[in-house]
Amino acid sequence: MGITLKDVKEYNLIDKDKIKFIGTACKCGSDIVFSDSLRSLICTNRNCEYSKLHRFKLFCKELNLSISDNELLNIIKTLNLISPYQLLIIDTAVKSNMITNKDIKDLDSVIEKIAKIKKATYKLSYVVKLSFIHSLSDVAEKVFYGYNSLDEAYSDIESGRVAFLNERLGIYNTNNATLSVDIFKLLLDNKDELIFGESLFNIETNTESLRIVIGGKSTRFINNDDLVNFLRARYKKNIVLSNRVCEHTDILIQNFNTSDNKLKIAKVINNNYVAKCINNGIMQLDDVGKQTKSSYKPIGSKILIGTESEIIDKLDKFYEIQG
Ligand SMILES: [Zn+2]
Repeated sequence: MGITLKDVKEYNLIDKDKIKFIGTACKCGSDIVFSDSLRSLICTNRNCEYSKLHRFKLFCKELNLSISDNELLNIIKTLNLISPYQLLIIDTAVKSNMITNKDIKDLDSVIEKIAKIKKATYKLSYVVKLSFIHSLSDVAEKVFYGYNSLDEAYSDIESGRVAFLNERLGIYNTNNATLSVDIFKLLLDNKDELIFGESLFNIETNTESLRIVIGGKSTRFINNDDLVNFLRARYKKNIVLSNRVCEHTDILIQNFNTSDNKLKIAKVINNNYVAKCINNGIMQLDDVGKQTKSSYKPIGSKILIGTESEIIDKLDKFYEIQG
């Protein structure tokens, strides 16, 4: 990925006066290229120490960890760190005296800050942003908005691939889909690191969201986006549209009998849920299907399944209509 300086010059992509100040090589000696958005420069060396340092610096700045650039460079080398998230487990290195206040002047304040971070809760999208992986960090909010775990998000990313990202990033013109292609690759390449990062934070559970999967085309709306916007405005809820039915899905809108597996999976999830509840004695078989005041979902429906009109009707009865 990336656009070479040669192409930038040849196609006049950036103001000629600005290019004059841009070098062609990174401090590590490797070539640099422009990001696809032309907003930043990337070193082509995947293991570049300077790009790595840059990510660590941004991480420290964002979380207020007072570690100077020199100190950072030294601990990265001493502890052989590869991800800025690893700074959050630096307390273990301190306990074993691998890091002392000779390495970090404000060590006490850093350790204290880390303890605070571990007690707080953070949005998943924010935790991804903290990776400061070039490009990915910028779109973290759009890609991970509304998800409670990477597992859940990746199930949509891996099944929906570039189409899912186009939707999330608001790209409607396939000519502009290179960003989605790049982001998709970055998401796959860096999955392990992000999962590691996620494991270090308490992730805020988003119960206010309605997680919706749409099976078959809408009958009343131009497209799925139109339907989602309608629901958002009507209930003032955070609506998360997914491609794949999973345990976290709240609603499956099934307008037609399509050949895909969405309905089948939703039914299996509901059946398993009912079986589990009955076995645990928290549900009676007779009650299954009854509507209560505490939820828009009838008893026994982990996932509410219905046509567009049926779902809107149920939600209208439960939520106050806002608009
Ligand atoms: Zn470099």
